[in-house]
Amino acid sequence: MSIRHFNLDDDTVVVVIGSGAGGGTLANELAQKGIDVVCLEAGSRIDLSDIVNDEAKMFPKVTWLDQRTGNGDVIPSFPAWTCKTVGGTTFHWTGVCPRFQDYELKPASTYGTMPGTNYIDWPLTYEELLPFYEKAEQKMGVTGRNGRPKLPANNNCKVMIAGAQKLGYTSVSTGHHAINSVEFDNRPSCQQTGFCLSGCVYGAKWSTLYTEIPKAEETGHFELRPQSMAVRITHDKEGKVNGVDYLDSTGILKHQKARIVSVAANAIETARILLNSSTEKYPSGLGNGNDLVGRHYMRQFTNMVMSVMPGPVNFHRGTVVGGLISDEARHDPSRGFSSGYLIMPVALSPESLTVNAFPGLWGKDLADALSNYTNFAGLLMLGEDPPELTNRITLHKDQKDHHGLPVPHIHYKEHDNTKAMRKHAMQRGIDLHSAVGALNSYEIWNVPAGHNLGTARMSGSPKTGVCDKWGSVFGHENLFISDGSSFCSSAAENPTLTIVSLAIRQAEYIARNIKTGTL
Ligand SMILES: Cc1cc2nc3c(=O)[nH]c(=O)nc-3n(C[C@H](O)[C@H](O)[C@H](O)COP(=O)(O)OP(=O)(O)OC[C@H]3O[C@@H](n4cnc5c(N)ncnc54)[C@H](O)[C@@H]3O)c2cc1C
Ligand code: SF4
Repeated sequence: MSIRHFNLDDDTVVVVIGSGAGGGTLANELAQKGIDVVCLEAGSRIDLSDIVNDEAKMFPKVTWLDQRTGNGDVIPSFPAWTCKTVGGTTFHWTGVCPRFQDYELKPASTYGTMPGTNYIDWPLTYEELLPFYEKAEQKMGVTGRNGRPKLPANNNCKVMIAGAQKLGYTSVSTGHHAINSVEFDNRPSCQQTGFCLSGCVYGAKWSTLYTEIPKAEETGHFELRPQSMAVRITHDKEGKVNGVDYLDSTGILKHQKARIVSVAANAIETARILLNSSTEKYPSGLGNGNDLVGRHYMRQFTNMVMSVMPGPVNFHRGTVVGGLISDEARHDPSRGFSSGYLIMPVALSPESLTVNAFPGLWGKDLADALSNYTNFAGLLMLGEDPPELTNRITLHKDQKDHHGLPVPHIHYKEHDNTKAMRKHAMQRGIDLHSAVGALNSYEIWNVPAGHNLGTARMSGSPKTGVCDKWGSVFGHENLFISDGSSFCSSAAENPTLTIVSLAIRQAEYIARNIKTGTL
């Protein structure tokens, strides 16, 4: 296989910014259709053989640690958890792949007026999305779909299932994962080692690093440029985008021409790039004529309960998030809030447990708490967060990163609906573990946001959104949003399957329009 290299002045290529779930998928889908793609990725490329089963070693290698500032209800020192590496956050992720539900795509119609929120219905229906869910599940080898077996329940999941039965939950299983339950796509089945967050040494967990990216390279229509930090998207007199300025691995500013540009840099960086692309014609940035870029920033809430059980659980063995209760993922205002949440088993390493569950403990108290490590069981509750105009990403007025680029600033205040849901979810988690004999439960109310969404949302109208239902930015039809930034609601379910499905759908749209000469 000879890797293709494209010239900087080749204006026939599609430039994709970001190689994670959205960008990696879009790039491969286009390359498979014979469309030439250059992918600019800020992070470096790691081989499977570079991965080690050690979170502490892998974290600094792959995490986005460039400066970000935040205020409101965020952890100021680490407001969001994303990756800076080839494969993006599919390097770190835990592979949970539920579909959104029909009503979650119609939040404005379903939830009615919710003060402070700015919901719109998605400009596409579940029926339109369904064929692409099926394609994404096939591509990612999602368990429990297309005849693929589900993953086995580990002990942590068995504790959850037993507690769920006591609470009367009925929608309980090991869930759907983009983790091989049987050998698939030349990758082995999950070995149940429990190091999913470090990256999967076996490649059993789907990551664009070793699925979409090498497959795209094999087509001869794709070039990956790691350590290439996109700075701004450029445009011609009419507003058509025509290339991307980026800093290469040596810090030299280059310009790659393009016929189409896709931004898939994860919601915070996507907004940052659009805002940083301001010109005389577009002083507030690209796609930002109605001051909507960066707004409606959503992050699903994440609570955890860590409980000491009467006997050993060894929750660190097996997939990190290996199970699912969906009974609470429903719109039932009688609980005191709109929309819903999922409950899943989760394991934390001793280091993470220390930082998150025992922040005030030290010395003997900490040693005593940790001596129970083998008896811990864990639960993760993940729920919908509404869009608000004031929750937004802006460019910091003064602070610059090591590239000299304005640092993204995150302002986020949690809505009362999310607060009420969070409270309900925490109680249900504690109840569940108590029902099966927990001796003590530690509550974790907040962790850095891993699901960042909505900062360039799709809409039927430029008055309420940044892009249309294909991800094409209003006023710049050859500029596309290809990640979770385009989401209109966060839903209760983990977002990546939907990001991948939308990217497959977008690739078909782009290919169709290239063929007819519209793009
Ligand atoms: C610990 C953890 C566990 C998770 N588990 C799950 C799960 O089980 N299920 C689920 O659905 N989701 C999960 N997620 C979320 C999931 O990883 C993301 O939803 C998904 O990866 C987002 O895809 P993306 O394409 O938007 O961005 P990413 O996958 O983050 O890719 C964005 C890429 O863009 C690059 N980039 C950014 N800025 C620039 C720039 N200026 N120039 C060039 N490149 C740039 C980044 O380096 C990155 O590689 C998890 C996240 C975390 C942190
Ligand atoms: S538990 Fe499975 S998916 Fe997770 S790291 Fe181990 S082999 Fe990979």
